[in-house]
Order: sequence, then structure tokens, then C-alpha cells
Amino acid sequence: MPDILELKNIGYSYHNLHGETRALEDISFGVGEGEFVAIVGPSGCGKSTLLSIIAGLLAPEQGTILVNNPDGSLRYPKIGYMLQRDHLFEWRSVYRNVILGLEIQKQMTPSRLQAVNRLLEEYGLDKFRDKRPSELSGGMKQRAALIRTLALEPQLLLLDEPFSALDYQTRLTVSADICRLIREAGKTMIIITHDLAEAVSLADKVVVLSSRPARVKRIMPVRLTLKDDSPLAARNAPEFQDYFNRLWEDLTHDR
Ligand code: ADP
Ligand code: MG
Repeated sequence: MPDILELKNIGYSYHNLHGETRALEDISFGVGEGEFVAIVGPSGCGKSTLLSIIAGLLAPEQGTILVNNPDGSLRYPKIGYMLQRDHLFEWRSVYRNVILGLEIQKQMTPSRLQAVNRLLEEYGLDKFRDKRPSELSGGMKQRAALIRTLALEPQLLLLDEPFSALDYQTRLTVSADICRLIREAGKTMIIITHDLAEAVSLADKVVVLSSRPARVKRIMPVRLTLKDDSPLAARNAPEFQDYFNRLWEDLTHDR
């Protein structure tokens, strides 16, 4: 099956009064339908820049992104973007937070709202719909943020270090939980993480970037024997340590 998105030789620089900051150099990789791609790389190398380009928030200076939809159309996939923090608004109830995207985009149709209600039930947040975000646990907040993202029915989810605000213990369960829910929803996902174990346990493919300007150092498909199991169990797969070590080598011997 061909990749639904193909990044070809993407390059990008920031320009300001002090000159030019080269962020991305000759970045190429593909993203298959339903695939989970993790992007890892040193801090400041250009990961968020790359995600902004994929999201269409920045236009690449060099290169192109090709679209191959299964139905042959050239329509760019609908994007859902989840950021570092959950960005729930404290002055709104949980329910009014999760419908925020629909409200802004004027898409509060009965079927969309029904889908939101279904997700609230499925994710165990139904009883909390009238609470404020601060009354939720870290994991529940991330679930609420995910519902808000899924409400707009995106095909491609872009996650920029979505779990980095959580403590380690919470992060292990929440990342596994959120990724399982995204898999079940049948979405394609690109996730930036600085946690190499997280990358190996969640992704079908890891793209390793060099320090700035980011170039692709390695594209590493991940096949774990326990793949059907949870990402937590995946950490016990016999191959896990090999993959982890390879990424560790790549990032500690940068260039
Ligand atoms: P990462 O997400 O990998 O930490 P970023 O993509 O955020 O890295 O940034 C890559 C480089 O581009 C960094 O050196 C950063 O300082 C620089 N940069 C990011 N945004 C801007 C901007 N708006 N203007 C100028 N330089 C920027
Ligand atoms: Mg970043």
C-alpha cells in the first residue's frame, strides 16, 4: 500500500533581523495509512518546525509533500493537532472544552455532538462533563484533549511531545492509553517525543533526526513480537532493547 503522505526533500529556514536559522535540510520520509510514526531528535533540532510544515502552518522553502489518498483524490488529510500541554480552559466545563473546536469551526451538528457524547462515555468522562479541568487527573485531561481533537474527525493526528508535562509514572499509562484509543479510532499518527522508550513502544516507525539543521539520520521500522499487546507490555518484548540501543547510539553520536 502506498504511503498517504510523502515528504520529499523538505527544507526550511527561519529568517529574522539577525540572519538565518537553518532548521530543516533534505527531509524525506513516508507515512502510511494508519501508521504511527515517531520523530526523535536532539532538543532544538527542528522537530516542531517539521510538524508545523506537515500541519500546513508553515510552507516548506524546499521540497514538497505528496498526497496519495486510497480513493485517488488529492485532498490533503484533515489534521488534528495536540500540543505539549492539554490546553484545556479552566473557565469552561469539561464538556464545553471538548466541543470548543466544533464551536469555533461552526460544526456543532447533531451527529458531531453525538460522537462527542459517545467518546465521553467510552473514555469514562461522562460523569465529569460539568467539572472544571482542574478537577480531573492528568490522564483524564489528556483524554479530554484527545476528544476535543477527535471531535473534528481528523484523519491525521499530529502530537508534539503530548505527554511531557506528566510525571513519569502517569506518562507511562497515559501515553499507552491515548495511543491505544487513537489506534482503535483507526487514525494515522505522527508523534514527536524525546523519550526513546516511548518511541519504540508506540511507533511502527521511528524517524531519527540529527541536530540542527535536522536531517534524517535513520528511519527505523519497529516490529515487536508483542505488538498486539499494550505499549507497556511492548517494553518487555525481546527486541525492545535492541531498538532502544540503536536510537540511543544515533542520538549520543550525533553527526
Ligand atoms: P525542536 O522542536 O526540535 O526543539 P524547533 O523546531 O522548535 O525545534 O526549532 C528549531 C530551531 O529553530 C531552533 O533553533 C529554534 O530556536 C529555531 N526557531 C524556532 N522557531 C523560530 C522562529 N519563529 N524564529 C526563529 N527561529 C526559530
Ligand atoms: Mg519542539
